[in-house]
Amino acid sequence: MDRKGILIVVSGYSGVGKGTLMKALTARYDNYALSISATTRKPREGELDGREYFFKTKEEFEELIAKDRLVEYANYCGNYYGTPRDYVEEQLGQGRDVILEIEQQGALKVREKMPDVLLLFVMPPDAQTLVQRLRGRETESEEVIRERLAQAVEESKYVDRYDYMIVNEDLDRAVEELHRLIGSQHNKISRNLDFTKQIQQELMALV
Ligand code: 5GP
Repeated sequence: MDRKGILIVVSGYSGVGKGTLMKALTARYDNYALSISATTRKPREGELDGREYFFKTKEEFEELIAKDRLVEYANYCGNYYGTPRDYVEEQLGQGRDVILEIEQQGALKVREKMPDVLLLFVMPPDAQTLVQRLRGRETESEEVIRERLAQAVEESKYVDRYDYMIVNEDLDRAVEELHRLIGSQHNKISRNLDFTKQIQQELMALV
């Protein structure tokens, strides 16, 4: 049966709780590899280089682009964000399911390059909850919050390009739903053609 690693993209509006969801998922299950992105955004308080992100200068980031070291990259609210290629390829090669927590432009670029990717979108239970979570974070100015809400409106126009949504109302349930969705991807017939063929041949040998 399918043991090849799956590439999964998780997107969602800023403040929807993707980071918390990813942390909870990887704490509960050890078959996931979470890719660490490179960015030119300044670290927030408590963020560490190499843990949340690889923090880069604009020049360093543009060198990664020039050397084709990124699976995808995008400009989001004035900063570059991108997925380093080596880690993703290495982990998929080892059969692990690799999760990219990235925004929409990047997600859609990954789909173009790798049509097999599973695109998931995390939704808030309602818009007010999203605003409250963004304000509650207290790491962003009101101006940045407004910018991110405007960005959310833009992103809402392309949600139909994703495969599944996960509503993040209850963290525990959202984690289970995410895990189940990814698990069912392993059972796709198209990912198990060798296995189904083998059963067919065994059956044919019996008649
Ligand atoms: P934040 O600044 O809040 O950490 O992230 C801003 C947005 O950038 C989020 O939607 C996050 O998912 C996205 N992001 C993080 N890493 C990457 C990446 O490597 N590529 C792309 N395209 N988006 C990313």
